[in-house]
Amino acid sequence: MGGLRDITAMVVAAESPIGRVIEAIELLTSHLPPVDQPAVCSLCSPQSWPCPAFDAAAEQIQAGAMPIGYLVPLDLHPRLWPASPDTPPPHEPVVEQGAP
Ligand SMILES: [Zn+2]
Repeated sequence: MGGLRDITAMVVAAESPIGRVIEAIELLTSHLPPVDQPAVCSLCSPQSWPCPAFDAAAEQIQAGAMPIGYLVPLDLHPRLWPASPDTPPPHEPVVEQGAP
């Protein structure tokens, strides 16, 4: 098994959008793959990634109107969102066309 990813912590208001889904965020983060094995969940190995626990946490977070792209390391974005010429990556802001 490869090296686990570095983590960081922050304090947020419990009633903030992040605070309301913090348990799901912690679950999602614990189910990220190691740096050198992006196809394997580090917690429920040998389950391939994204694993069912990651998907369930991601659904809860998105139901709280939080985009999960901000919570997933950039090197894993292509596995979650394969490149498409029509769809910008989720971490890039969408520019409204024709806005005054
Ligand atoms: Zn997992």
